[in-house]
Amino acid sequence: MHKNLTTDVVIIGAGVSGCSIAYQLRKAGVDVIVVEREEIAAEASSAAAGLLSPAGVLTGPADGANLYLAGWSIILDTIAEIVRVSGIDVECRQVGGLHVFTDENERAHLERYAEVWRTQGSEATWLADDQLQQEEPLLNAHYTTALSVPLATSIRPRLVTQAYAESARALGAHIYEHTEVTGFQWHKQSITGVETANGETIHCGRVVIATGAWSSQLTEQLGFTLPVFPSRGQILALQQPEQPLQHTIFGKGLYLVPKVDQTIYIGATREHVGFDKSNTAGGIAWLLSTAISLVPTLEQAAIAKIWTGLRPMSEDGFPILGYAPNWENIILATGHGAGGFELSALTGRTIADLITTGQLTPVIQPFGLARFNKPTTSIEEI
Ligand SMILES: Cc1cc2nc3c(=O)[nH]c(=O)nc-3n(C[C@H](O)[C@H](O)[C@H](O)COP(=O)(O)OP(=O)(O)OC[C@H]3O[C@@H](n4cnc5c(N)ncnc54)[C@H](O)[C@@H]3O)c2cc1C
Repeated sequence: MHKNLTTDVVIIGAGVSGCSIAYQLRKAGVDVIVVEREEIAAEASSAAAGLLSPAGVLTGPADGANLYLAGWSIILDTIAEIVRVSGIDVECRQVGGLHVFTDENERAHLERYAEVWRTQGSEATWLADDQLQQEEPLLNAHYTTALSVPLATSIRPRLVTQAYAESARALGAHIYEHTEVTGFQWHKQSITGVETANGETIHCGRVVIATGAWSSQLTEQLGFTLPVFPSRGQILALQQPEQPLQHTIFGKGLYLVPKVDQTIYIGATREHVGFDKSNTAGGIAWLLSTAISLVPTLEQAAIAKIWTGLRPMSEDGFPILGYAPNWENIILATGHGAGGFELSALTGRTIADLITTGQLTPVIQPFGLARFNKPTTSIEEI
């Protein structure tokens, strides 16, 4: 990188959020530099399960449900577009989801969830007994009823993030990896440049903070903190058994997602343990025992991989999108929690629109930083 660069917009963080925003900004003809301290998709954006199937959030607060439905309405087309532009196969497959329940409360919740999909014109049907066993013979026969949601889709998170990044590059974005942002330069209420650990300054008209779980560390030096903290997710992959699992199974607080590479991703824990990225005996034991109780044949499956990631979780679980208060040109795009991929197309489009038109798209209006001054319902209470 050269010592003194100038651009319209600096995006800090090359996870799925930052790369999606870069792509949409380049489509609008805006000059962009993305600065990443490690590599593209180094953190949560490579650790994710890659499920595109908004679930509990759709029966929560209306603003949150609307946000996720707006995200859902454009994600598959956007993924098809970045696959075309970048030439990267992101292993996108509509696997379909089967939701099982253990008590009447959960069943009632699933019924409300099914209603939301039906009002969107999507299929959500109950399967029982023989029909269920035929659809998914590997499901524990103890479960005699399940809600089938055929639209559940699986992607490979690292590849999707790279596809956003390469699409942005193809349109002229610059992405500097191994370049940590360590400070800012400003005049009055306006950022004029970002400083990097390599001793460079990038002069800019605007800054987007898309630094995931680390977002608050960066803004502290600007005089404000963000209610975003790391939520550890432990996750693992098993090899598919000879007779493979066909559907994504949701139940008992986890999901099992069959992948194109003949593995099944099983995730994930939700733990508040700071920036500790360890896998623990307890976390892995819970994932395995719960998965085996849902699909008993997995007891014999070989373990392919175990890993962990830090979700950028806001206090209410929904993202923080919009201008930072008291600053003229800092834009926040963080706190996506467990849904950064599902919301990635929407994040890119709405933040690019905000920068090019100055207007907040109505669906993201409730998701500014200012909402944390008021009482809210947490996504984790849903
Ligand atoms: C186990 C697990 C399973 C998940 N499953 C799903 C799923 O199925 N579907 C879904 O939609 N979401 C899922 N998620 C959530 C999803 O991964 C996140 O919401 C999403 O990746 C957040 O993307 P991001 O770009 O905001 O943050 P990140 O991907 O964390 O990117 C932030 C980037 O900023 C960089 N950075 C930080 N500080 C600096 C600095 N000072 N200078 C330069 N760069 C910096 C970091 O290195 C990092 O690359 C899951 C997450 C986990 C952990």
